[in-house]
Amino acid sequence: MDVRRQSSHPTSDKQQMFKPNNKKMVDVSKASDPLPTSMAISNGIFFTVFFSVTYFLLIRWREKIRDSTPLHVVTMSEMAAIILFVASVIYLLGFFGMSFVQNDDEEEEEEDEEDTAALDCEPEVATKHKDLVKLEKEKTTVTEDDEALIQAVVAAKIPSYSLESKLGDCKHAAFIRRVALERITGKSLDGLPLEGFDYESILGQCCEMPVGYVQIPVGIAGPMLLDGKEFSVPMATTEGCLVASTNRGCKAIYVSGGATSVLLKDGMTRAPVVRFGTAKRAAELKLFLEEPLNFDTLASVFNKSSRFGRLQRIQCAIAGKNLYIRFTCSTGDAMGMNMVSKGVQNVLDYLQLDFPDMDVLGISGNYCSDKKPAAVNWIEGRGKSVVCEAIIKEEVLKKVLKTSVASLVELNMLKNLTGSAMAGALGGFNAHASNIVSAVYIATGQDPAQNIESSHCITMMEAVNDGKDLHVSVTMPSIEVGTVGGGTQLASQSACLNLLGVKGANKESAGSNARQLAKVVSAAVLAGELSLMSAIAAGQLVKSHMKYNRSSKDIAAKG
Ligand code: ADP
Repeated sequence: MDVRRQSSHPTSDKQQMFKPNNKKMVDVSKASDPLPTSMAISNGIFFTVFFSVTYFLLIRWREKIRDSTPLHVVTMSEMAAIILFVASVIYLLGFFGMSFVQNDDEEEEEEDEEDTAALDCEPEVATKHKDLVKLEKEKTTVTEDDEALIQAVVAAKIPSYSLESKLGDCKHAAFIRRVALERITGKSLDGLPLEGFDYESILGQCCEMPVGYVQIPVGIAGPMLLDGKEFSVPMATTEGCLVASTNRGCKAIYVSGGATSVLLKDGMTRAPVVRFGTAKRAAELKLFLEEPLNFDTLASVFNKSSRFGRLQRIQCAIAGKNLYIRFTCSTGDAMGMNMVSKGVQNVLDYLQLDFPDMDVLGISGNYCSDKKPAAVNWIEGRGKSVVCEAIIKEEVLKKVLKTSVASLVELNMLKNLTGSAMAGALGGFNAHASNIVSAVYIATGQDPAQNIESSHCITMMEAVNDGKDLHVSVTMPSIEVGTVGGGTQLASQSACLNLLGVKGANKESAGSNARQLAKVVSAAVLAGELSLMSAIAAGQLVKSHMKYNRSSKDIAAKG
């Protein structure tokens, strides 16, 4: 959901606050701007000094010529006057000379701007953008050796993917690939930065065949008071209002005494699909796997490939003669897909000995279920299952969120519960959980594709304390996060994890960092839900007042 449409701010105010090309937001002063007072005063002083000492020296030199005193014989007062003269000349030249150069640059830039009419932004922003582009162009100087390589890639004599191993320099490889790509496609990559990224850090781990990186701004919502601790939540997003809205929710929670979270489950899943000649044979394996007496043997086979992956559960589903086996295991601080897959492979190899007719069709049979909306995750959970709650006081609802308990409870029932039921939602009983989940995931190096099941959330709002206060909660059964592996080890993402105090592996208790991160995600969702629902409730109130007051007025007038 686009929170921009739901904000309680009037549109014009909102545009003033968040419009990226708003002049207020871009603090670039120009030489043609009015001078600050302090600068005007010092200019006045130096002008006065300049003219006074010039006048004084001319008078003194005229007297010397009249008295036939040699000009090079100077008194202390003349010496002081000469020093002041030189100082004021330097100052005035420096000041007005600089202004002249700046004016000159501006004129040139204005001419350039006419050529780049496609840039839909204020001149200041356009200038900065052009500077960046210029920088990129300057740094992409092609040497003779590079030229030979580029031509070989363009002619498909050297495969683009082999550049890293061939050159042994990941950034250089990215540069060659980039120029080759521009030539092949005839499209410019200006604006996509190449400089300023550690390409070695992604090799064999995060991204193949890089040609640059996309910049996403990171905003901070918070402090979020969660389980008695404060967290500043990093959110990488290009959706205006999202961070501001979540921040408002954090404030409401903070001044109401904070949020509390509980982790209900922690287990990553993988479900291979295996096929037999008959449904009877598939059922035999199902019974074998679900027999509690066999669990310890299967767990010891599963666990041998990792210090952290520990088998928790096996669930089976049959479709004819095909069997789907859902393995759940703990994964320490890793999100755990690799870990669980390795464990599953161990068990499949072991089972093959007793079930030689078992045909393994795929290590993933979609009963896991990864990166797809699925009831199995919503009901059974995947990754971390968390519930997070807060009680928001009546006066906070009024002052910070501009709404009331009754409005929120009613809206939640009709929108998040009934509306989602009418839409046939699967885990989507919320206002915009995925907005917050995605932004925190991108900032902290999680797999953004897992936002699908990680955003499964039911938001509940109930009146408590004789209807005065609001109990709000989010229940999220499948938050899939890690603090080691994947994108978490990259510099920017790792800085965001560090800000939350959950960077890397937890040395004292494996898995605590990832569990804490899941709780922070749920708390940020709680804040986001509270704020957006309040904005909608406030907007709805205004609209319904307008509609019903007017119509009743009209009816009364007619009556
Ligand atoms: P994933 O399983 O999420 O895809 P990876 O396999 O890339 O993650 O990363 C997990 C790796 O990190 C494993 O090799 C594991 O042994 C190592 N590791 C080190 N410390 C921890 C920890 N505290 N929790 C989980 N894994 C850890």
